[in-house]
Amino acid sequence: MKNREAPRQRIVIVGTGFGAVMILKKIDLRLYDVIVVSPRNHFLFTPLLPSTTVGTVEFRSIIEPIRKTRRGIDYMQAEAVRVDAEEQTLLCSGVEEERSFRLRYDILIIAVGAANNTFGIPGVEEHTLFLKELVDARALRERIISCLERADLPDATDAERRRLLHFMIVGGGPTGVEFAAELHDLLDKSMKANYPALVGIPQISLFEAMPTILGAFDEDLRDYTIEHFDRQGIEVELNRTVAAVEQGRLRFDDGSVEEGGLLVWSTGYAPTPFVRDLPFAKERGRLVTDDRLRLPEQPTIYALGDCADVLGQPTPQTAQLAMQAGKYLGKSLNRLARNRSIKPFSFVDLGMLAYVGEEKALAEIPKVRLRLRGAITYLFWRSAYLTRLVSLKNKVLVLFDWMKTAVFGRDMSKF
Ligand code: FAD
Ligand code: MG
Repeated sequence: MKNREAPRQRIVIVGTGFGAVMILKKIDLRLYDVIVVSPRNHFLFTPLLPSTTVGTVEFRSIIEPIRKTRRGIDYMQAEAVRVDAEEQTLLCSGVEEERSFRLRYDILIIAVGAANNTFGIPGVEEHTLFLKELVDARALRERIISCLERADLPDATDAERRRLLHFMIVGGGPTGVEFAAELHDLLDKSMKANYPALVGIPQISLFEAMPTILGAFDEDLRDYTIEHFDRQGIEVELNRTVAAVEQGRLRFDDGSVEEGGLLVWSTGYAPTPFVRDLPFAKERGRLVTDDRLRLPEQPTIYALGDCADVLGQPTPQTAQLAMQAGKYLGKSLNRLARNRSIKPFSFVDLGMLAYVGEEKALAEIPKVRLRLRGAITYLFWRSAYLTRLVSLKNKVLVLFDWMKTAVFGRDMSKF
């Protein structure tokens, strides 16, 4: 008797980030039809995003078109709007033009990440720049160069120069810290050659509402960073809570005001509007899943990464977790289709890295209780990221960017 193939189930994956891409790398396309829905038609390697704001690494070196990530899948450029769990459909809305369509699914995987948290503080959306997507990094790079060019005009007053070249960052997490470090490197390396009249004027300030920066790192490493920043002339201001933002101005809750040419907002994550409106169980805005990454009441819906919280387990909002979860889910869906048993998911903390400027980095590796800092750690930081880039093309491009920057410096053209 001829062995007839069973009809393949259709998986709809929402998102093209770390979680989604790792599923795509693992899923067996002989077992499933896969459709990916996301407004972003590429994967973005966020750990190197701060480097692109100053041109240490080029924008296109850290993205990978999703259609190339895995041949044989379908991709639709659209935003997920609503889930109808009864009908098993996903309502999607086009990005380039206003039109909507419904996608039927057998299995739905929600991997939409998170949004920037503004804490509802007035003026943040209008007057600050975020650092989350490539468009943000590009806007930042243009803004930095434009501040320098404007300050270099002959009619700029001293006060104007100081205001334009005051670079203000709100939020002392890894992203804010790494951006401050990259910006410092840029100014350190290119002021004398490119803007000799402005040497000594730029000031970078990092404002943090808590009594410490890099809260997730060990105290030694936090102290080291604060000292290292001090040496580099990066001002760290702790216990400073922003109450409102205006054009070029931060207003703090104690009534004080700071002015600058660049305002960067990096104070962590909030749920995306899509997740916020989903009628499923959540924990601090994140979809609750069991240890198979499934929504408890919805046997056909999975969630992972920044938008999800695994019940009873620490679930940090990191690329590391999203990658492990994606790999796990891809493999377990393959096993499910073959009627094999699956093991529960558990996160293995491989540690954290952060770049702190002048070719120094931090590493905290919990498994071996190792804490490193300094120049050797920087080489480790570079190689760790290089090996984690998802495609060979990206690895080659980033390596060339690093060599190019070392030899020729950073490009200050604005276009
Ligand atoms: P994401 O990678 O954010 O992907 C979400 C995807 O969903 C995107 O493609 C988005 O376009 C799409 N999407 C959003 N809404 C919808 C919708 N309604 N419909 C369809 N698609 C949608 N983590 C580390 O571990 N190490 C680091 O060094 C590190 N550095 C970072 C540096 C920066 C500047 C930033 C911003 C983050 C960094 N992170 C780091 C965190 C890491 O990027 C996230 O934890 C990780 O991206 C989470 O993966 P994800 O798949 O859940 O979501
Ligand atoms: Mg994802």
